[in-house]
Amino acid sequence: MNVPHIMTPGPTEVRENVRLARSIRCTNPDLDFKFYDFYKETCEKIGVLLNTKNQVRILSGEGILGLEAACASLTEKGDRVLVIDNGIFGEGFGDFIRIYNGEVVTFKGSRKRKIDIEELKSFLEVDSNFKYATVVHCDTPSGVLNDISSICRLLNQKGILTVVDSVAAMGGEEVRVDDWKIDILIGGSQKCISAPPGLTIVSISDDAFSSMKNRKSEIASFYCNLLVWEKYYEDKWFPYTPPISDITGLRKAIDNMIEDENILLRHSKIAEATRNAVREAGLELYINEGYSSTVTVIKVPEGINDSELREYMIENYNIMIAGSFGYLEGKVIRIGHMGENARMDNVSYVLFALQKSLEHFGFKCQCDMYSCFLREF
Ligand SMILES: *Cc1c(COP(=O)(O)O)cnc(C)c1O
Repeated sequence: MNVPHIMTPGPTEVRENVRLARSIRCTNPDLDFKFYDFYKETCEKIGVLLNTKNQVRILSGEGILGLEAACASLTEKGDRVLVIDNGIFGEGFGDFIRIYNGEVVTFKGSRKRKIDIEELKSFLEVDSNFKYATVVHCDTPSGVLNDISSICRLLNQKGILTVVDSVAAMGGEEVRVDDWKIDILIGGSQKCISAPPGLTIVSISDDAFSSMKNRKSEIASFYCNLLVWEKYYEDKWFPYTPPISDITGLRKAIDNMIEDENILLRHSKIAEATRNAVREAGLELYINEGYSSTVTVIKVPEGINDSELREYMIENYNIMIAGSFGYLEGKVIRIGHMGENARMDNVSYVLFALQKSLEHFGFKCQCDMYSCFLREF
């Protein structure tokens, strides 16, 4: 199978040392106590990246597992939960809360910009009786980045627990879990971390653990129960056999990130140069404000079919970018510049391929996008 170069907003390219780490011989991770130390150290390294002393766990399942596990573990029948929604993943949290019989109250923001803090403040002055609130850091289908620092501190002042989906931002945007009062933060292996899909990362505050322990009813799940992970190390017991090869790969990917001291600056520079090149070429960005450094979302020019364009890029340039879904299906294309992909050589070639492909379908760019992009370095 020919594998194109994947420049999508996840999964991302996986570095060779991560692929090799996944192929080493494995011990029995349930019975070999050294693996408990390896797992714990890996969680602690992730904690350093996230600026937290909170407990971190790596669960076997893609990012969606983390989202559902947070909702399953916190929600009891009739609990009021605030869903902060300015995108597809933002709205999607409501579905998980309903499955666990929570009462969803939505705060809806514009889908073209980040959540307005003053509007949220006024909303909370009228009603702040929520057990917890959910918010998405980077809502990937539109590429909007929310200011979780202000949002979570505000919610925390009102006594509301905070659940943040940072799957598409963790590793590419700053996250300060402790300072920003994030009770549960969720990440995934296949976005900026640049390991293959399969793992979700969660950080869990003491307040979140207390809330789970003080429930009147049992958590209605086992795989999605975060509480069963609380004392795995002391008890030398994992709820299920950890996917050891995935975790040795993740560990290497985390080490790569720790060594990469300017990782956040690299993301923001690449993202800014991409946006500038795209605008200068006469293309339009989808959102107006609140751009994530991990993905650029571009309107498909009139008369061009996004799947034909993407197919042409694969066939002729071996580059895969993404379309989008939900209300954005067919309307935008997305370039992922996350993790290993947030590099000058990758992105300049994507812009070259995109330009050639747009020109093939009759759209004339007003500049050479790759040289506009490279000029900024
Ligand atoms: C990728 C992603 C997830 C995980 O979902 P999949 O689409 O199944 O990979 C969750 N939240 C956000 C914001 C994501 O970008």
